[in-house]
Amino acid sequence: MSPPPEAPSQPYTYVRRELVEPDWRRFPGWRDVTGAQWRDARWQRVHCVRNARQLRAVTGPLLVERFYRDLADDQRRFATMSPLIPPQLLNVMAPAAPLTPEEFTDAFLADPVRRYMLPVASDRDQLWPSHPHSRRDSLHEAEMWVVEGLTHRYPTKVLAELVATCPQYCGHCTRMDLVGRSTPQVDKHRLTLSPADRQSQILDYLTRTPGVRDVVVSGGDVANVPWPQLESFLMRLLDIDSVRDIRLATKALVGLPQHWLQPRVVEGLERTARTAARRGVNLAIHTHVNHAQSVTPLVAEAARTALAVGVRDVRNQGVLMRGVNATPDDLLDLSFALQDEAGILPYYLYLCDMIPHAEHWRVAVWEAQELQHAIMGYLPGYATPRIVCDVPYVGKRWVHQVTDYDRELGISYWTKNYRTHLEADDPQALEHRYPYYDPIATLDTTGRKWWAGPQ
Ligand code: SF4
Repeated sequence: MSPPPEAPSQPYTYVRRELVEPDWRRFPGWRDVTGAQWRDARWQRVHCVRNARQLRAVTGPLLVERFYRDLADDQRRFATMSPLIPPQLLNVMAPAAPLTPEEFTDAFLADPVRRYMLPVASDRDQLWPSHPHSRRDSLHEAEMWVVEGLTHRYPTKVLAELVATCPQYCGHCTRMDLVGRSTPQVDKHRLTLSPADRQSQILDYLTRTPGVRDVVVSGGDVANVPWPQLESFLMRLLDIDSVRDIRLATKALVGLPQHWLQPRVVEGLERTARTAARRGVNLAIHTHVNHAQSVTPLVAEAARTALAVGVRDVRNQGVLMRGVNATPDDLLDLSFALQDEAGILPYYLYLCDMIPHAEHWRVAVWEAQELQHAIMGYLPGYATPRIVCDVPYVGKRWVHQVTDYDRELGISYWTKNYRTHLEADDPQALEHRYPYYDPIATLDTTGRKWWAGPQ
């Protein structure tokens, strides 16, 4: 018998990796923090890093002054989000860093999680920090509010923003217009209704609109809605016959998994999941993980606990960002960590939206197409993440669905197959071509010159 043929070498080699919780005691400020404190959601919230002073208190001499200068420069000139980093997330940055301050600072600066959670000025595109077509509410969600906080931009699904805060703030947040505290660059808009009134109006609209079957309950982050209030809202939502899918949006599953492991939250989730199952409604959690490094045993425990109490699925909607995860290896490492070790379905990867000062993170549509091609065939089909572009006024589109593409100027064109109430009276709405723009730094000389001139 001839020996079996040797396995061909592949561009990516799958190796199963055990999850690890990096040792937080490597940080001088957390040297005496116990395991019980670390698992305590309240301790995590109280010890979030909100500014340079608090970062210094945790890292001691590990970060040298050039880092703080870079951070202060960013806060003053570019930041669209104010810092808010739970210890859980800070602890996955530079997890195996060497210990001299210069080496630690370099590792911290190069860290993929730091790059989107705590941006510094030197990260930004120095020539084109913002695309000329970037917008604060780049997806025009507020224009599509049917009541305050309820965006209706697909025929059968809506997004309900219950709260404008999160337990953690991501530098690239799409809802930077509304979410979080104001920064020197961005005076945030505010929700005006009381939470109770907003929730009632949302529920009234859904009761009056039986064509909507799918509700993304979001924010901000639902982990910042006091649990009894969230459970009461979900139970009232479950009373509406036409609602068949409910998705809870929470990055806290990875940023503050301790929240989702609190007994009162787990018990409440179980009651809600039981009611959903009895009524035949699909209750899922959608989270937001961008790098394998942040998938730790606590994250896996939180996800598996949600599944164990009856949540039908936990899915990931990551954001594709240069310097964070925009390589085939990073995307496959992330997907395998989620799928194999944490029970989280690698569902979507969004192109980073066209908000101000995001050019250094954004990738061109053609780059996204190449990445999608590169990650095919390794994961089960249902767990292969789809890379999607959220096209303003259109909605999500798989990156290969582009209708037309001017590569020289980096303008892709997309069409839509449904109307929002904004186009209700526009007979041409489904014939329009809607543009999306590649980062100018990805264009060749002709394209860059064109954007630099008068358009
Ligand atoms: S968790 Fe989501 S809503 Fe909150 S800051 Fe991050 S991206 Fe924005």
